[in-house]
Amino acid sequence: MAMLIRRMLTRLRNDFQLSIITLMGLIGVLGISPYAIYRLLEGNYLVGLADCVIVFSTLVAVIYAWRSGDTEKPGIYLATVLTVGGTLVATNLGVNGVFWLYPLILFNFFMVTPGKAVLATALVLLALVSHALLVPGSVFESSYQMTSFLVTSSVAGLLAFIFAYRTRRQRDQLQILAIQDPLTGARNRRAMNEELRIAVALNRRHGSMFAILVMDLDHFKRINDTFGHQAGDQVLMDFVKLIRKSSRKEDRLFRFGGEEFLMLLPNTDKAGLLAAAKHLHSQVAQYLLGPGGPVTMSIGGAILRTGEDWESWLLRADQRLYRAKAAGRNCTVADDASQALPPVLSNLF
Ligand code: GH3
Ligand code: MG
Ligand code: MG
Repeated sequence: MAMLIRRMLTRLRNDFQLSIITLMGLIGVLGISPYAIYRLLEGNYLVGLADCVIVFSTLVAVIYAWRSGDTEKPGIYLATVLTVGGTLVATNLGVNGVFWLYPLILFNFFMVTPGKAVLATALVLLALVSHALLVPGSVFESSYQMTSFLVTSSVAGLLAFIFAYRTRRQRDQLQILAIQDPLTGARNRRAMNEELRIAVALNRRHGSMFAILVMDLDHFKRINDTFGHQAGDQVLMDFVKLIRKSSRKEDRLFRFGGEEFLMLLPNTDKAGLLAAAKHLHSQVAQYLLGPGGPVTMSIGGAILRTGEDWESWLLRADQRLYRAKAAGRNCTVADDASQALPPVLSNLF
C-alpha cells in the first residue's frame, strides 16, 4: 500500500498534466458535487445536471488518464466539458456563477494548447455576453458590471496565454537540447538509443523492416592533427549537412561518437540499404571537401533481425564497419537477416 502511494506520488510529480487532471477530479468531487446536490434539491435541474456532468466527466477523465498514461485526450475532453458546463452555469446563475469562469480560464491553459485555450475563452465570453444582451438582467446587473467582467476575464486570459506560451516554448527548446548534438545539429546518442528501441518494438509488433548504417569518417584524426580541431569540426558539420541533403525525409541521422554517425532507415531491405550506402558514398566522395582534399567514409550496415535487441543489431553493424576499415576504407560491408558472413562491397564507388 505504502509502495503504491509512493509510486502514485512519483507519477504526479513527474507528470504535470496528470496532476492537474487529478486536482480537477478532487475539486470536482469535493467542491462541485455539494453544489450539484444543492441545486437539484433546490429544483434548479439545469445547473444541477450540468454540475453532475462536470463531476462525472472529471472522474472519467482522471481514471482514463491514470490507466492509459495519456493526458492529452482527457485534457481536451475535460476542457470542452468544463467550458460548456461553466458557460451554462454562469448564464443560469447570473453573476454568482460568473466567478467560476476565472479558474476555468486558467484550467484550459493548463490542459490544452495556448491556441485552443484562447479559442475556448473567446467562445465562453462570447456566449455569456450574447446571452446577457439577449436577455437583459439575466447575467449581469448592469452594463458597467458586464464591462468589468469582460475586461478582467480578458486580462486573466491574456496573462495565462503569455505564461502558457512561454512555458511551452521553453519545454520545446529543452526537448530539442536534450536530443540534439550541439556541434552538428544531428540527433545525439540518447535519441539514437530511444529510436532504435522503438524500431525493434515496431518490428516485433508489425514486422516493419529497418536498416542501419554506421558511418565513420576515414583518417579523420589526420585532419585534426594537420589542420587543427576547428577544421575537423567544420568537416563534421559539412558532413551532416551533406548526408541530410542526400537522404530520404524519413531517414534519421544520429551522431553517436566523435566522427561516427548512424543512419536509421525505415522500410528498407538489404537492396535498399546497399543502394542508400552507394548513394551516400558517391555524395561524400564528390562533395565532402576537407582542408586537405576529399574526405571518405566507411560504412557498416545491418538489417534488423526479428527477435534481436537493438544492442546486438548495433553491434553487428559496428562489426561490419570494422571489416570495411580492415578492407581498405571507403567501402561498405552490410549484413542482412542471414548468418553468413557478408562480402565487402569495395571499389563500387
Ligand atoms: P579511421 O579511418 O580508422 O576511422 O581513423 P580515424 O583517424 O578517423 O579514427 P580515430 O578513431 O583514430 O580518430 C578519430 C578522431 O576524431 C580522434 C578525435 O580527436 C577526433 N574527434 C572526435 N570528436 C571530435 C570533434 O568533435 N571534433 C573534432 N574536430 N575532432 C573530433
Ligand atoms: Mg574514423
Ligand atoms: Mg571512429
